[in-house]
Amino acid sequence: MIPPIATRFVAGETPAEALDHVRNLNDRDLKAIVNLLGEHYDDRESARADAAEYRSLAADIAATDLDACISVKPSQLGLDLGADVFREEVTTIVDSAAEEGVFVWIDMEDHTTTDTTLDAFEDLARKHDGGVGVCVQANLKRTRDDVRRLADIPGKVRFVKGAYDEPADVAYKDKATVNREYEALLEYAFEHFDGGIAVGSHDPAMIDRAIDLHEEHGTDFEIQMLMGVRDDAQEELADDYEVWQYAPYGDRWKSYFYRRAMERKENLWFAVRAIVGR
Ligand code: FAD
Repeated sequence: MIPPIATRFVAGETPAEALDHVRNLNDRDLKAIVNLLGEHYDDRESARADAAEYRSLAADIAATDLDACISVKPSQLGLDLGADVFREEVTTIVDSAAEEGVFVWIDMEDHTTTDTTLDAFEDLARKHDGGVGVCVQANLKRTRDDVRRLADIPGKVRFVKGAYDEPADVAYKDKATVNREYEALLEYAFEHFDGGIAVGSHDPAMIDRAIDLHEEHGTDFEIQMLMGVRDDAQEELADDYEVWQYAPYGDRWKSYFYRRAMERKENLWFAVRAIVGR
């Protein structure tokens, strides 16, 4: 069982617990992106098992009529074992979710995976005429070119700043430059995309910029935030905009919880207070 300390960031250990969380979000006008925790598998069986769980999750979402989609990680679907393994597993998920009418996001991992991830996304998005989305990272120097390529592909694009510690030859390392890049990517997308823009950020400045661009160009967009991060803002923004909460679940919750708790002082204090019961 997940201890109360971690339930701020993780929606449970089982699909049933995750779907209970989704129901609760939907009651508050928030939509959900459900992610089964897991990454960097070095055996085919784990990748196969997670792919099967995603297919079953998509069927459950469709059967219960919840406002939810799923988000998968390439290395959870066997990318470390080979691009062909990832391709095969992600295709089974997207094909079966498409039949259920459930949207699938593909998370983006470190820069060595970008080409394989974008190529898989492009093929699946063209095959299903949308129904799938991919994430791009503002800290990578290549991303302006990638976004120009994505403008002509159906499906959605999630814009994030980038969570991986990348080498300086491929990535911007200082926050101010990453922020400037993020804004430039949004400007391009709001001007050139037909919609399908997802602002995956907790940063009020980036969200305000997206709202301004939406008002200027009329392009549709959605806001995406992580479970447990700026929960109040998620509810407030949902009064006026489409807000999706990324809600992870599963029994591999410990390292995810640790990352969330360590990334900001206030999260760490929250964890410490929960431990000492104050
Ligand atoms: P930061 O640059 O970290 O912070 C900017 C400002 O935002 C802060 O000054 C503060 O005002 C506010 N803020 C940020 N965090 C908090 C907090 N905990 N509490 C209160 N205020 C806060 N990265 C990937 O590399 N690949 C992915 O596939 C991916 N998917 C993601 C999906 C979603 C839905 C989200 C939200 C993020 C995802 N990320 C992904 C992570 C992303 O790359 C960033 O590392 C992460 O979101 C932190 O950047 P930020 O824009 O939220 O804000």
